[in-house]
Parts: sequence; C-alpha cells; structure tokens
Amino acid sequence: ATPMAVIMGVGKAAEFGALIRRGDALQTAAKITHLVIDKTGTLTAGRPRITQVDATGTHSIPDVMALLASVETHSEHPIARAVVDYASQENLQPIAAKGFKAHVGQGVEAMVDEWRILAGNQQFLQHHGVDTGQASVAAVPGQTVVFVAIDETLAATVCIDDPLRHDAKQAVERIKSMGIKVAIFTGDAAPAATRIAHDVGIERVENTLLPQDKAALISAMRHPGAVIAMAGDGINDAPALASADIGFAMGSGTDIAIESADITLLSDSLTGVADTIALSRATIRTIK
Ligand code: ADP
Ligand code: MG
Repeated sequence: ATPMAVIMGVGKAAEFGALIRRGDALQTAAKITHLVIDKTGTLTAGRPRITQVDATGTHSIPDVMALLASVETHSEHPIARAVVDYASQENLQPIAAKGFKAHVGQGVEAMVDEWRILAGNQQFLQHHGVDTGQASVAAVPGQTVVFVAIDETLAATVCIDDPLRHDAKQAVERIKSMGIKVAIFTGDAAPAATRIAHDVGIERVENTLLPQDKAALISAMRHPGAVIAMAGDGINDAPALASADIGFAMGSGTDIAIESADITLLSDSLTGVADTIALSRATIRTIK
C-alpha cells in the first residue's frame, strides 16, 4: 500500500504546481543522482526572437522571410512562432504551402508556389544537398542559426535568441547543491548550447541530438545506483522522458511530452524540479 506520507506528499506537490502521476515517482525523486535538461523551452523561456537576418542568395530578405513564414505557419516549434511573429511585424503576407513536413529536431520543409523551401539546422540542409558553406554565416555569437534554402540553394540565415527562464540559474544551482549531476541535452547546435550551459553553470552539454539520441545517451548513463531524471517540453524530448527513471514535463509543453513524463510542472519552471526533490527527500525521511 502507498504510505500515507506519500499521499500527503503528492497533495503538497500539487500545491506548488507539480502534478505527480504515481506515488512511486515521488519516492524515486528522493534518489535522483543525475538530471538531464532539455534547452529550448525548458532552460529557456521558449519564446525566441529573431535578432538578425542575412540574405545569402538572389532573393531579398522580405521575399525569403515571407516564404519561410508560409512554411513555419504549419509548425508548432518555438522557432516557427518567432518567424510568424516577425512576418506579421514586417507586414509580410504568408501564402499557401503544400506538402508541409516537420523533421523533429532538425527542421521543416514545404512547397510554396513553385518554390521548395527547407529550413532548419546546418546538418538538415546539408543532408538535403544544400551547400551551407557558400556564404560566410554572420551568426550572432551564442545564438541559434536557422538556415533557409530555396530550391536547394541557401537563401538566408536567421539568428534567433531565446533567453533563459528567470529562475533557471537559481534552480540549477539548488539542484547541484543537492549533490545531483546536471547535464544539457539539446537538438540545437554547439554555439547556442554552449552559451546557455555557461550562463546557467552546467558543464556537460550534448548538442545536435535527435530525439532518439537523447534517449540513447540516457540509457548509456545507466549504472548501478544511478537514478536518472529528465526534464523537457517538446515532442523531441518524449523518448528521453520515457527512457529516464523519472520524467518532468513543462506544463506548457506538448501533449506527448506530458504523457511521457511522470510529473508535470504547471509552474513551467525548474524550481518545481528542485522543490519536488526536496519534498521527496523530506517525505522519505518521515517514512523511515
Ligand atoms: P531542443 O532540443 O533545444 O529543444 P529541437 O530538437 O526542438 O531543440 O530543435 C533542434 C534544432 O532543429 C533547432 O535548433 C533548429 O535549428 C532546428 N529546427 C527544429 N524545428 C524547426 C523549425 N520549425 N524551423 C526551423 N528550424 C527548426
Ligand atoms: Mg525543448
């Protein structure tokens, strides 16, 4: 039977917005040795802004961005929202897109008029035969770069900034002070991943990961005595959330992330992870 203290603990967690699906998750949380954190939308606010656009081909910036917005209108990714917001601020009219396809953790593609648009990280475009080295990329240091191709030719690079959540650094410090090893696993490229890791004080950072890579790296961390937790928000985090011993999903995250996790953080904050671990440890002490 579930100890009374655990039932009370689950109730207390709900008061600070941590919805615990099963009592044993609260008991497992006390033993967490490692916490893996997704970057975009988990450490960061997930409300990215476009800071710079560079045209690299024959198309003007407004033309490329109108085509890009026509594709991103169909994507749920935070980057897509930034593009759509930019287009509406610049009065660019999105047009109908056909054959939209999202490649989780990599980018998007669609046909807009007779143009074939690809947008995503450098590997994704290279994989589709786009030469991304033909233009020197004027990236803003530490920001995410989205590469945009029209008919397999690089047309623009878009720099995107996604600031840390206001409490991320403090929450990570608290979790580290509990003796837990913390790492970042992200689908984003090294520059943005390294900057965020530095700002928040995390040494281990793994970048350019596909969803299944995140899960495989978690499996590789397993050793006797290790209890591995994962915190994430996206479709791209679902396999990792399922493969961890305990998963925390951001309440604003995608449904599939929430379904794959044991605990949902309605506060959308890593402070909820620290609070859950502290509560769990206190609960276990009263049972012993
Ligand atoms: P994270 O693990 O940090 O949450 P994702 O796995 O969601 O990141 O995305 C990894 C990378 O894939 C992004 O940094 C971006 O370069 C690219 N990407 C994903 N979705 C899109 C999109 N809709 N538009 C443009 N680029 C995208
Ligand atoms: Mg994410």
